[in-house]
Amino acid sequence: MSSELVIVYHRQPYEEVEENGQIVLRENKSPNGIVPTLKSFFGNVNHGAWIAWKLADDPDNPDFEQKIEIDDDYGTYSVSRLPLTSDQVREFYHVTSKEAFWPILHSFKDRYNYDPVNWANFRDVNRRFAEAAAAEAAEGALVWVHDYNLWLVPGYLRDMRPDVRIAFFHHTPFPAADMFNVLPWRKEIVKSLLACDDVGFHIPRYAANFVSVAKSLFDVDEVAREKVPEKWITEDTALAERSVPKRIMFEGHEISVSYTPLGVDGAFIDERARAPETTAAAAAIRDDLCGAQLILSVGRTDYTKGGVEQLASFERVLEHNPDLMGKVRLMHVSVTANRNMASYEEIQNEIEQVAGRINGRFGTLDWQPITLISRAIPYTELMAYYQAADVAWITPLADGMNLVCKEFIASRIDCDGVLVLSEFAGAAVELADAVITNPFSDRAMDHAILRALSMDKDDRVERMTRLRTAVRTNDVRDWGPGRLKVAADLRVIAAE
Ligand code: UDP
Repeated sequence: MSSELVIVYHRQPYEEVEENGQIVLRENKSPNGIVPTLKSFFGNVNHGAWIAWKLADDPDNPDFEQKIEIDDDYGTYSVSRLPLTSDQVREFYHVTSKEAFWPILHSFKDRYNYDPVNWANFRDVNRRFAEAAAAEAAEGALVWVHDYNLWLVPGYLRDMRPDVRIAFFHHTPFPAADMFNVLPWRKEIVKSLLACDDVGFHIPRYAANFVSVAKSLFDVDEVAREKVPEKWITEDTALAERSVPKRIMFEGHEISVSYTPLGVDGAFIDERARAPETTAAAAAIRDDLCGAQLILSVGRTDYTKGGVEQLASFERVLEHNPDLMGKVRLMHVSVTANRNMASYEEIQNEIEQVAGRINGRFGTLDWQPITLISRAIPYTELMAYYQAADVAWITPLADGMNLVCKEFIASRIDCDGVLVLSEFAGAAVELADAVITNPFSDRAMDHAILRALSMDKDDRVERMTRLRTAVRTNDVRDWGPGRLKVAADLRVIAAE
């Protein structure tokens, strides 16, 4: 059966777990809820399809069904699993996407690694995703492609299926031309994106940057521009943008450029936050602190997350404020991902070294200033830490959105706690009431954390109340309809 909506997202929309020797599919449970949100779109169509990859020893003869049919609370949809070898995955995902694209998307030119890229493999994998989407899409269907590792899909798909509507969403930042054009494949990538009907981003700045890149490479004209709503113009933050191109024209084809900041599932978090076991766990954490203030820092181990810079700030702050000895503790959660990648291992080692040095310099038998955690904390436990923390310290050097800070806010049903947030996290354009800081400035970093630690209760509650309103009014459930409106607009364009 062909599908009116085809979602192309490299991960499968569930976890595969083994139960009694059988592989069963289980819902991904995460407070950020992106996968359930995407699946909820299937409720609006007769039949949907999802395209992902799955590891196979022999892709010509995989030991699993390539296409499965699912009928669940979200609707009726098929999942096509493209069989890829571990070498193909490594080259397309860990090398090309993570070593070449990722540093450029996050503006780290010096980390860009061109040499190991196998571009032929990247094209091949993207072409296969496009073929799978083309095979599933009904006449005039909407195909929605996600993220930079599938950048070439729209171009291939447009050639195969001129009738379909194509939308693309970036979950990362998108840099301006001076940075993006470091990529030697820039024309091929952007030409593919210009084959879309809509190119989507988290925030206005990334949309504006994309248009600047497109204009630098091709004769692209701006057809319409719009003002950014006041609520998303946070004064004095690096990522604020006041107006953005809304429609552009390339070779007679009109493309809409949209932004819909991703939110979290507020109702889900609220329910977890109010659960007696969460309250009890948060109280136990507070008891263990023996009156010390808790600073919580949570992120993946990645140079973009600024973990080393943050620890360096903590060291300076302890050095210059002896009154804080024994009175403050930092829980630094830096989840190790991609263990097989040299650049991540390097950062992990550096974080461990700096944290060890700080504990060695300032710690006593009764007090360790830093607790470093490298494993992922299950979200139920994380919720308790969010509630027990005095300060959430989220200071990435670059971050497409950052959902941890929104989860922290959504879990603070007590309207207390301070968020210190980097102005280079996409979320900063929505969260003006955080203590906004610049992670590239030692002085700004040190000042922000000290300010957060000493903020009085009235100020904390006032800010958190406003932050909670901001998070509530841009819930992931609103992101869905926001994207759906884009999809509906695409159909209007198609009908004209
Ligand atoms: N997360 C988690 N356990 C951890 C650390 C993080 O479950 O120990 C989750 C966190 O709740 C959030 C996600 O991982 O939903 C991270 O999303 P974010 O947008 O902040 O960063 P990303 O890793 O996507 O860059």
